[in-house]
Amino acid sequence: MNVSDSELMLGTLAAHGYVSVDHPDGADVIIVNTCAIRDHAEQRVIGRLGELRRNMKPGAVVGVTGCMAQRLGPQLLDKAKHVSLVIGPDGYRALPALIEGARRGERGIHTTFDLEEQYEDFQPRRFDRVKAWIPVQRGCDYKCTYCIVPTTRGPERSRKLADVVRETRDVVAGGMSEVVLLGQTVNSYHDGEHDFADLLRAIGGVDGLRRLRFTSPHPNDFTERVVDAMASVDAVCEHVHLPMQSGSSRILKRMLRRYTREGYLDCVARLRAAIPALSLTTDVIVGFPGETDEDFDETLSVVREVEFADAFTFKFSPRDGTPATRMPPELTVSDEIASERLARLVETVRGMSRARNLGLLGTRTEVLVEREAKRGDAMLMTRTRDFKTVLVPGTEAMLGEYLTVELTGTTGSTFTGQIVRERQPLPMAG
Ligand code: SAH
Ligand code: SF4
Repeated sequence: MNVSDSELMLGTLAAHGYVSVDHPDGADVIIVNTCAIRDHAEQRVIGRLGELRRNMKPGAVVGVTGCMAQRLGPQLLDKAKHVSLVIGPDGYRALPALIEGARRGERGIHTTFDLEEQYEDFQPRRFDRVKAWIPVQRGCDYKCTYCIVPTTRGPERSRKLADVVRETRDVVAGGMSEVVLLGQTVNSYHDGEHDFADLLRAIGGVDGLRRLRFTSPHPNDFTERVVDAMASVDAVCEHVHLPMQSGSSRILKRMLRRYTREGYLDCVARLRAAIPALSLTTDVIVGFPGETDEDFDETLSVVREVEFADAFTFKFSPRDGTPATRMPPELTVSDEIASERLARLVETVRGMSRARNLGLLGTRTEVLVEREAKRGDAMLMTRTRDFKTVLVPGTEAMLGEYLTVELTGTTGSTFTGQIVRERQPLPMAG
């Protein structure tokens, strides 16, 4: 969501004549787009702002945008004197005017929610050349007790289906063949007329679109209609990122996730019955207040039962103002115990994915070339429909192509592969 917001901001700045540069040194305007989900994310922003203060060109305008800007508002202006604008997730329209003000020496802030704001007239400047992030919903109406998002992004609202279809057509006409629909509980999408099932069918019907993904769905919003649409729309990929958070019904209740362990497993079963080749990934929090060894064992047992392909794992991070910070202090799980649980969880997930991935060596699969691999040496980062990463030899000219590869090696989590057959590239514009 933050990448997508950055793309919107770059878009509006480009429309106002700004040219983006690769490095903050020498820039006239520096915008730090932030996340507030865990304290660690905010500490990194504070570190980055300190670096900028030391290295930025004298007189440069520094702005802080996104969730941390929304959360801290005027406190940021008080504490960081070199920051001259602070803009929350609904205020990007004000960005050019506030930058102009800042260049005249003013300091500005925009942290009011605007429930009508969907940035429909913005032309995002996309970082990615192969797949497009398309926000379909802003904000969140769930109130998970650990989570700052409802405070920083405000209430849930959906874009109109026709607008999402238009944006999808535009990106496909521009040469992309994959879109990722974004929302905090993306499958609760409803524009007043159409639900997420309608949206999947409409987007899946865009000519030239080959891969359709979405993130993150909430287990409670997988209605039969949505599951049916997923199973019947060819472009919908065989991968769902399904945040679980905990495998203990007791902890889930304290988290106000609104499902039980059984409810989560039932959702998994329904998805797998509809889409047999489905691969699942998840998010898990350890060390939530009151989590006992037994609760954590239940989390491990669901992880084993579901056989997630991968998991994002987090230590609970208390966020000011959220209900979880008001739970009795004796429920606090020590950092030592949380770290130990995190390590065991990561080991369990890795061990299972390594075993499964070793079993896939020698098989063939379709991949889409997403980008050059970071480690260089003429390797490409490609992905399967079910979200496995496969490194294959090749050059930048192959970005956006679909290839058939044979999986030849695995580090446990990612694969290396050899190209078996090159497919027709889709026409890439520009
Ligand atoms: N809307 C998405 C999650 C967005 S936040 C959803 O509900 O699925 C991404 C992940 O960060 C969450 O799934 C959760 O695992 C983690 N997270 C959120 N708040 C957290 C906190 N206070 N401490 C630790 N992890 C947290
Ligand atoms: Fe946060 Fe829960 Fe909303 Fe996800 S569903 S953004 S975890 S409140």
